Amino acid sequence: MSDQTKNETVPSDAGYFGQWGGQFLPPQLEGPFAEIWDAYRQIENDASFIAELRYIRKHFQGRPTPVYHARSLSLANGGAQIYLKREDLNHTGAHKLNHCMGEGLLAKYMGKKKVIAETGAGQHGVALATAAAYFGLECEIHMGEVDIAKQAPNVSRMQLLGAKVVPVSHGLKTLKEAVDSAFEAYLADYENSIYCIGSVVGPHPFPLMVRDFQHVVGVESREQFQDMTGNLPDVVTACVGGGSNAIGIFRAFLDDPCDLVGVEPLGRGLATGDHAATMSYGTEGIIHGFKCYLLQEADGSPSPVYSCASGLDYPGVGPEHCYLKDTGRVQYVTASDDDCKDAFFKLSRQEGIIPAIESAHAVAHALKLAREMERGTILVNLSGRGDKDLDYVIENWGIGE
Ligand SMILES: *Cc1c(COP(=O)(O)O)cnc(C)c1O
Repeated sequence: MSDQTKNETVPSDAGYFGQWGGQFLPPQLEGPFAEIWDAYRQIENDASFIAELRYIRKHFQGRPTPVYHARSLSLANGGAQIYLKREDLNHTGAHKLNHCMGEGLLAKYMGKKKVIAETGAGQHGVALATAAAYFGLECEIHMGEVDIAKQAPNVSRMQLLGAKVVPVSHGLKTLKEAVDSAFEAYLADYENSIYCIGSVVGPHPFPLMVRDFQHVVGVESREQFQDMTGNLPDVVTACVGGGSNAIGIFRAFLDDPCDLVGVEPLGRGLATGDHAATMSYGTEGIIHGFKCYLLQEADGSPSPVYSCASGLDYPGVGPEHCYLKDTGRVQYVTASDDDCKDAFFKLSRQEGIIPAIESAHAVAHALKLAREMERGTILVNLSGRGDKDLDYVIENWGIGE
């Protein structure tokens, strides 16, 4: 977008960030993806597209979201000062709507009638259904039957928003099968529809487009933080599932003297194998049409992964993150379920902010770092609010002491 500064780490024409990314598609889908890329290249600099997106961000989403100085949390923790970029206050309660509104607007400009996607825990489905309702598009969300049973409130939300939820009943009946099913549906109807990916993953151009749509988070935070403090933060940190909220905030600080730290879920610990720390422990592989660090089995199939945060349990990761790890510009660390739980309760009790369990991973790392640093500032991307997690929390962690 022309109102967003572009760093020169843009991918090659074939969508490679260094050796990562690219486009591994069934031949029939190469045409439709080329059409999306052409359309995006045209409209990303189109004045009316930019104006409409800005209008939507301000009046529908409630942007800019604030940056907040978490004084009590910082004081109680006894170290550096922690600031939060409040994506939990974005409409629908998380950052995902930033790229879903962009994808919806792209669909509209391309003259498409329908958006298609898969969803695991349902967060992407709800955000996309919201965008579809706004733009008057049909919305078809593919979801494994196991996930449908686990995520009943999100299924109801999607249906309330007018989306059709398609149950997927083969294989393990979870995200992987839902991806296949959504791809098939898109293949059968690409003239009228567009496939919308939920993070900075998937075949080119999605890692680039989703990143551009999330860039607003970093642009706003950088300006807001400087207004508040007169300085840049010493550290910027965010949780990494597919990597969209992290890349959104990091990108605006790439050329600044700030440490950038992505936080991955260590789940129950490395030794148990129950984690999803892709950047830390993955190896080169291909998943869902792109190349990335991947937690994989001996035969190259994605490993089963686990995190208490359903939005973080993905065995792959966005290609730009892989590149930023290799160049050393961004450091990737882990936080366990226990670290996350501690941060979840602290932020709730000490600030009156109930974070998404995903976001609590970034807060956990900020707390640890703040103690080590003793002084200075840390900006955390608080990617979402915890309302969606209450059932999980009460069942597994109780209500706190
Ligand atoms: C989905 C989700 C994430 C993880 O997705 P990224 O693409 O890594 O940002 C993080 N936080 C919240 C609140 C989410 O809903």
